[in-house]
Amino acid sequence: MPTGPCGINCDVCRLKLLGICSSCGPGRSVEAEKKLDAQIRIFGGSCPVLACAHESRVDYCLRDCGHFPCRHFESGPYPFSEAYIRMQKRRRKDAPVSRDPSGKDVNVPQEYWQELNNRNIDEICEKAMARACPPEGIVLSFLGREILLDRQGKCLKSFKNDKWSKIEYPMIELLVLVYLLNVGHGPISNEIVGVHELKDSHFFQGPHELKVKPVLDRFGNDPEAFREAAEALGGEERDMADIAYRLFPLPKVPLFYLLWVGDEEFEPRLSVLFDRTVDRFLSADAVWGVVNVVSDALLMAPNFLR
Ligand code: SF4
Ligand code: SF4
Repeated sequence: MPTGPCGINCDVCRLKLLGICSSCGPGRSVEAEKKLDAQIRIFGGSCPVLACAHESRVDYCLRDCGHFPCRHFESGPYPFSEAYIRMQKRRRKDAPVSRDPSGKDVNVPQEYWQELNNRNIDEICEKAMARACPPEGIVLSFLGREILLDRQGKCLKSFKNDKWSKIEYPMIELLVLVYLLNVGHGPISNEIVGVHELKDSHFFQGPHELKVKPVLDRFGNDPEAFREAAEALGGEERDMADIAYRLFPLPKVPLFYLLWVGDEEFEPRLSVLFDRTVDRFLSADAVWGVVNVVSDALLMAPNFLR
């Protein structure tokens, strides 16, 4: 593995090809351990990024650590410029891009807000397992966070630093509105089904495949990080696969993420399962959107909506 915890890829460096410098390797690798030993032996000290990542069991700082860019990067001047660190900080505050299954930017139809305003709030809250928040709001739980739908301002808010702050995340806004307008009475079934058992199963193919690959790339060989991410989103462990969690993106829409960890013989695998009732409450494209958001949230946890 030629990439160090800081993200520098030694495979594309002439110093490595000439044997002048060796690769750091990801933080949990044997290469990282060897490089630390060599640095201490030769220089009497070690790279703080490599030492911290190795000790914290973090493979890649930019991908795997919620503290990036930490003081080891900010104190510079090596390996990144101040401008690069500033860009990383700014862009890490952005919500992931919200695209629909055809790849277009998600637009939230204003009629959905209108329709919500015409409905009886108490009835909606009872069906959706949400609560009214006078004068005009509805509060519901989303992956362990509280989300407020401000019906007057027609926007979503999340609870940060002791106050409600507006969030720009069109996919979540759309999903929450669709859920509130369509969820039915009664409990979920507690019968777990795969995507092929959903009524519109043919939808989830080709460009509409569920977004699981980035989650698999990140956690396929790191079940402990998967556990931390799922628990940071309020997930409950389930006795399935090598490690599995039930997550609630919406109060009556549980998703089950099942991970089989990779080894020398088998590649890691990941499956997403649903409650049998999911397609009673959400259309196929909304189910696709929910999986997108949960997968992104797992990659961002614990910073998701924080
Ligand atoms: S900055 Fe540190 S972690 Fe990155 S390549 Fe250099 S020694 Fe390795
Ligand atoms: S705290 Fe900094 S150096 Fe340590 S693993 Fe996280 S980002 Fe890397």
